[in-house]
Amino acid sequence: MAKKYVYNFHEGNGSMRELLGGKGANLAEMMNLGMPVPYGFTVTTEACNQYYADDEKISVGIIAEIMNHLRDLEEESGKEFGSPENPLLVSVRSGARASMPGMMDTILNLGLNDEVVEGLATLTNNPRFAYDSYRRFIQMFADVVMGLSKAKFETVIDEIKEAKHVKLDTELDTDDLKLMVKKFKEFYREQLHDDFPTDPKEQLILAVEAVFKSWENPRAQYYRKMNDIPSSWGTAVNVQMMVFGNMGETSGTGVAFTRNPATGENKLYGEFLMNAQGEDVVAGIRTPQTIDHLKDIMPKAYEQFVDITKKLENHYKDMQDMEFTIENEKLFMLQTRNGKRTASAALKIACDMVAEGLLTKEEAILNVDPSQLDALLHPTFDGAALKDAQVITRGLPASPGAATGKVVFNAEDAKLAANAGHRVVLVRLETSPEDIEGMAAAQGVLTVRGGMTSHAAVVARGMGTCCVSGCGDIKVNEEEKYFTVNGLKFTENDYISLDGSTGNVYGEEVRTVPAKIVGDFETFMSWADEFRKLKVRTNADTPRDAKKAYEFGAEGIGLVRTEHMFFDGDRIKAIREMIVSKTVEQREKALAKLLPMQRGDFEKIYEAMHGLPVTIRYLDPPLHEFLPTEEEDIIALANEMNMGVADLKAVISNLHEFNPMMGHRGCRLAISYPEIAKMQTQAVIEAAINVNERKPHYHIVPEIMIPLVGDKNELAYVKKIVKETADQIIADKGVELTYKVGTMIEIPRAAVLADEIAEEAEFFSFGTNDLTQMTYGFSRDDAGSFLQDYYDKKVYEQDPFARLDQKGVGKLVKMAATLGRQTRPDIKLGICGEHGGDPSSIEFCHKVGLDYVSCSPFRVPIARLAASQAAIRNK
Ligand code: PEP
Ligand code: MG
Repeated sequence: MAKKYVYNFHEGNGSMRELLGGKGANLAEMMNLGMPVPYGFTVTTEACNQYYADDEKISVGIIAEIMNHLRDLEEESGKEFGSPENPLLVSVRSGARASMPGMMDTILNLGLNDEVVEGLATLTNNPRFAYDSYRRFIQMFADVVMGLSKAKFETVIDEIKEAKHVKLDTELDTDDLKLMVKKFKEFYREQLHDDFPTDPKEQLILAVEAVFKSWENPRAQYYRKMNDIPSSWGTAVNVQMMVFGNMGETSGTGVAFTRNPATGENKLYGEFLMNAQGEDVVAGIRTPQTIDHLKDIMPKAYEQFVDITKKLENHYKDMQDMEFTIENEKLFMLQTRNGKRTASAALKIACDMVAEGLLTKEEAILNVDPSQLDALLHPTFDGAALKDAQVITRGLPASPGAATGKVVFNAEDAKLAANAGHRVVLVRLETSPEDIEGMAAAQGVLTVRGGMTSHAAVVARGMGTCCVSGCGDIKVNEEEKYFTVNGLKFTENDYISLDGSTGNVYGEEVRTVPAKIVGDFETFMSWADEFRKLKVRTNADTPRDAKKAYEFGAEGIGLVRTEHMFFDGDRIKAIREMIVSKTVEQREKALAKLLPMQRGDFEKIYEAMHGLPVTIRYLDPPLHEFLPTEEEDIIALANEMNMGVADLKAVISNLHEFNPMMGHRGCRLAISYPEIAKMQTQAVIEAAINVNERKPHYHIVPEIMIPLVGDKNELAYVKKIVKETADQIIADKGVELTYKVGTMIEIPRAAVLADEIAEEAEFFSFGTNDLTQMTYGFSRDDAGSFLQDYYDKKVYEQDPFARLDQKGVGKLVKMAATLGRQTRPDIKLGICGEHGGDPSSIEFCHKVGLDYVSCSPFRVPIARLAASQAAIRNK
């Protein structure tokens, strides 16, 4: 049988959202529940996909099916499409599988032309209403279907209002509206060199096509990418008999939520306008009334509506966001969907619904989007202030949060200004380790280059600092301290604001409010912890990060990137000294400087984690991130090392690598310079002994992790140094201390040979940043520059550095986990790449049976919830 592309609302139900889209499925479901829903039909998401498969043409077959359903609709409604005597008008609205508010468009009052409008006027005995509907239709059709800007139409409306000396649309009479229709059509003809289409069937097909097309508009594409919605889902189109809220003072339209979407309060929340159509409520020209006023105006309709909202919430077991219209005192439901809500509202609603007995804990846990929790951990923008602020450009939402402050162009200025009590936003072409203190001092960081795993992004997320990266529209002149974007110029004293959750950049100060963690947050997280199988650790490089992560519920540290301990201040000098050393003596001298810093930090980190496991990764600095580039830094380093500047420059240039990401990094350094591994072992072991002495109940068991291993012999070589050094110290001190030595699996060869590597390794941690880089064969540093083309051309839909590529990289992870367990059944398996904080990647880790995920401190609560959801979903 041929595929069915169009479904009457009676034929659908709530479980068919893949085919009918969310709106279509819910309209059908409401109809099944006996609620007053205007008749209609849904053109399926498969029809949308077919439209694209047919080179953006609606096939003859699908058109015929639409026409058949239109005839059914005429029968059900007792009205006739295009008939002036008894006209059927319809709305045409998009409805994707996942709700994408505001991303695609709506057309109302379709089916009108010069004859039908007259018929409607006579039939309703309300010519004003008829012409009001007509002018709205022309405007929407021209905008959505033909791409004519709304603004010009608004100018026409304003001119007519001005001439009449009135302010509100409702003050215009029939003649004014007739004039408006005339002017709209003239404008249409002028712009498109064609008359406004008069055949309602032609209007309908054009409108359906416009909705299909809107699936690929830039707004929708962007929204899909941010929300992980594949383009293959397509959108459905709902064609529904119009009911009219603009029929006079006994009609109206509104939107409502079953609970307050901002606070979660269990009270019907919404607004409505009398004598209006949908867009009036959101357009803000007339101020809507709050929903409780409807009780006074139309008590019966209000009661019926309240009753329906309760039924819907109980039915869907979630807070509902609904649209309704009242036509001559008769209520109609036009939409219901699970309502979007703030993070704190989400938690309150989840906790309340469990208390009310509406949801089980498991259901409540599944109702909260893990990534939303992030908003509770950072300051946020004041909603009203943000609404009025102007977006000047947009970059990648690299690290969430709300930042507002004066622009600075280097780390030093950021520090100085912050010390003087100013809030600043650091704007850089890209960041390097020298910027770290400036990044910490700044409210937020904006970079021109770099992707989601660029230095700026990773470090900012780790610190919980808001960051927008890869903002290519901006032209920065760091020397002269200004930047330009879209014709605007910003210098040092100008304010900007960044929204790290959307990537939006605002050209002004936007008020922020501090984040509040309410009691529901704790209750909810404790429920989440009951169900998860995966442990959640953190990636923390400093005692400060470790402390924060512990507060957020981290159950250990999965990755201390030891080179990151040397980013700031004087420390970077010591590590640079170590890197450019030409002799063992020079290097040992530099390492001797690093030893006490490292030992001290390890002690503080162990203490911050209260005896929970800590995995310390040995040095893995891609050299280019650490070598000095500024003349003054080179001179200072040369002086420190008693070297000539030219000599040092020669060393630096010798160290230059064409592809540092695949260069002298990781265990390769320890193989060339075993003294590095010795020093680090000394620091790890001595710190553990010292802390165990102070806090015997901690029983610290250090986990030493060797990075970038591709062969068992590499690991064996470094492990030997570790063991000799550690055992000697332990024996000398006469204490008992156990420790573990393991490795990262971040090179494809290591994954393939994981059974061999497990002979040496007591644990594996998947370094999926490098594993992604090496599996795809593109550099983490450079991929950002061309991956955008991949997304634009739909070669890829997602950034594989942000979301684990389960098919390819994931296959290696799975294989390595199986092989590792074959050799060593009790081997501990974790992940510490950036994917460890990404909900869909966490679900994958759960399925593969890893023991833990490790992520930056501010992602720990997100990971706890995602792990819990994964366990519940895959029971
Ligand atoms: C990784 O490669 O996934 C990892 C965690 O290490 P890094 O990001 O420091 O290379
Ligand atoms: Mg790595």
